[in-house]
Amino acid sequence: MRPGQTGRPGGGDNLPVAEPLGDHRVTELLLLSNSVSPGMGFLEHARGVIGELVPPGSRLLFIPYASADQDRYAAVMADALAPLAITVVSAHAVADPVAELAACDAAFCGGGNSFRLLRALQRAGLVAELRHRVAAGLPYLGASAGTNMACPTLRTTNDMPIVQPDSFEAIGLIPVQINPHYLDPDPASSHEGETRPQRIAEFLTENDVPVLGLREGSWLRVSGRRATLGGTAGARLFRRAQDACELPPGADVSDLLSVRPRFDTPSSGDRPA
Ligand code: ASP
Repeated sequence: MRPGQTGRPGGGDNLPVAEPLGDHRVTELLLLSNSVSPGMGFLEHARGVIGELVPPGSRLLFIPYASADQDRYAAVMADALAPLAITVVSAHAVADPVAELAACDAAFCGGGNSFRLLRALQRAGLVAELRHRVAAGLPYLGASAGTNMACPTLRTTNDMPIVQPDSFEAIGLIPVQINPHYLDPDPASSHEGETRPQRIAEFLTENDVPVLGLREGSWLRVSGRRATLGGTAGARLFRRAQDACELPPGADVSDLLSVRPRFDTPSSGDRPA
């Protein structure tokens, strides 16, 4: 991608977000910061909103590729969704995950290492397939690394690059970046490494793309052209050349869906004189 170009990095097109293909169903997303909240079981904090999006009797493709122990992860997911009468089929346990996706009513991408997840999605041919199916109305749910996949790129993950994907280009279901597990700096800390806001500010020196810092316990819910902040902890929104702002639970953030992201665009302060 050339400097200053807009749209998907590496993709070369200018589509900021997946568009519906053919039928009239709208994009339905649930992008969770985390899967486990303190004192609660796996996904328990989000069971209500998951049930709204995935009705009883649904068949859900679970994508456990971010984990090193996919058998165990798939079993945990099946247990967590059993009270909602959702049948979980794990992508790692079927011969053809792309074909399985076509037979499912929803997809859920779980957390773990985002680099491992993206590389596996690329190898399975699921990046383009998920983009296509979700644009046509298949509900997409993600937690953590799975939420990172819904962004245009991997560039605002907290993870280490333990493996090398073909590119950082993710599924791109929304036109902005999310930083999951967003952590406010602790003023009493003596830690000398970058704080999370500093890392996000660094991203913004090279990319003109809003970053939504989702705190633990919060999520972004997208339904068509409407996006709202769910959960209890709120979020922090970072934009280039603006002060970060606080978003309370329930905030309407639909304007983020019409952003045109600009990657690899150094801010003026970084340009050589
Ligand atoms: N490692 C995280 C998770 O999936 C993703 C992240 O922090 O970017 O839990």
